[in-house]
Amino acid sequence: MVDDAQVRATFLGTSTVYLNDGVSGVLIDGFLSRPSLLRVAFGRVAPDPKRVTHALSKAGIRRLDALLVAHSHYDHAMDAPEIVRRLGGVMYGSSSTLNIGRGAGLGEASMAIIGDGDVVTAGAFTVRVFEGEHSPGNRFPGTIEQPLVPPAKVGDYRDGGCYSFHVTHPSGSLLIHPSANFVPGKFDDLDVDALYLGVGALGAQSEQFQDEYWRHVVDATQPSLIVPVHWDNFFRSLDRALRPLPSFMDKFDRTREWLDRQSAATGIPVRFQQPFEIISPLA
Ligand SMILES: [Zn+2]
Repeated sequence: MVDDAQVRATFLGTSTVYLNDGVSGVLIDGFLSRPSLLRVAFGRVAPDPKRVTHALSKAGIRRLDALLVAHSHYDHAMDAPEIVRRLGGVMYGSSSTLNIGRGAGLGEASMAIIGDGDVVTAGAFTVRVFEGEHSPGNRFPGTIEQPLVPPAKVGDYRDGGCYSFHVTHPSGSLLIHPSANFVPGKFDDLDVDALYLGVGALGAQSEQFQDEYWRHVVDATQPSLIVPVHWDNFFRSLDRALRPLPSFMDKFDRTREWLDRQSAATGIPVRFQQPFEIISPLA
């Protein structure tokens, strides 16, 4: 049973996570179109209105107060303006993300720039922004200086700065950390109940990197629950079962072993959330 006063979290692949407490709704990223690898590699990408509609309705997301974009790569930011246009609320992101909003025709009143240390409130939710580093191997660094009109090349979606989101609510707190990298000391004074931990391409990193990642993100925040995010093959539609990233992009088996090992050593449960499954991460 899901208690009505509790924060409910729905995972929708990549680092797309919907939080709601029955009154207010907060969405991270909102990447639902998930174009195929062929299109990403050789063509141009644009929001897929049918897939966006289908995923929102399947997830039961009918209204929104805030949509926070972690960075402006297409697999985080591309669909955000489309979602805000349909559901309302404000899209928060870097200046690059706002240029994605402008290119999609989103009005200035529906978007706002955020940066390190900024605080956004949405009903009983308070979200603090932490700027960090993109995971190693950032293929499209830099900023988006002009309104970006889709369809566009994936490489036009430059990262524009990477954010993590510390969400507090009267029932507890969680950190959503989409990109598998760290800034030493950044989370040292932060204790959370749940951690949505980005593990994308972590399996391709050295053991030393993985262990430092755990130290600076997990040890620093002392969560009671870890939900891994950004591990799935986002070239597949959300209509199909999630699968790990293909092996030329990541070594997911290594990530899984690492998570199992760390979980056993620390006693912190690691729970892979299924897409569209609703959990109460603060309960
Ligand atoms: Zn990225």
